[in-house]
Amino acid sequence: TFIVVEGGEGAGKSTQVRQLSIWLRDEGFDVVTTREPGATKLGTRLRALLLDKEHTGMSSRAEALLYAADRAEHVNSVIRPALQRGAIVISDRFVDSTLAYQGAGREMAESEIVEINRWATEGLVPHLTVLLDVPAAAGLARHASPTDRIEAEAAEFHERVCQGFRDLAEREPQRYLVLDAQESPEEITRAIQRRIRPILPD
Ligand code: C5P
Repeated sequence: TFIVVEGGEGAGKSTQVRQLSIWLRDEGFDVVTTREPGATKLGTRLRALLLDKEHTGMSSRAEALLYAADRAEHVNSVIRPALQRGAIVISDRFVDSTLAYQGAGREMAESEIVEINRWATEGLVPHLTVLLDVPAAAGLARHASPTDRIEAEAAEFHERVCQGFRDLAEREPQRYLVLDAQESPEEITRAIQRRIRPILPD
């Protein structure tokens, strides 16, 4: 079972990934938690390149390809092997982050981003994607100051990203669970648990 948690800056994704993994391990499941970018050895290098402010002005296509490269490595060396042995994989971000950031945020053609990522992931699609929906300004306010190249983008960029996530969720309601990230973390965890229970392996 492959579960992804998505959202803009400061949505609280990592907290929820942690809580879910604790719960599922308690229930006796083999759980792998992971994230993008940067879950592999190669990914660590790519993450540094992608987030370094030295690379402000990187071309949008180069950025999209570097995220896709990180994802290809992630799928091949972490996600697929774990799924194949029957583990539940929970990833902080996946392809939809790229559709939101590089597609909606950088205003690149969605169909092209979809194609590149289909190729990079060999068509892997999550069973469930949880969107922690937070107004862009509220999410950014949770960080004292922008710490990376993407967080330092203009407010309009982050608005497009958040709207991009909402549009994706609206188009695929059966794959998505959309939650208000401004609810309490405990409330959010309980809502995710209710949605995940029925799709857990026996
Ligand atoms: O989720 P996390 O904070 O680790 O993401 C690292 C940075 O990468 C964030 O600033 C996020 O906005 C950015 N990012 C991106 N495009 C993606 C995935 C993440 O710009 N496809």
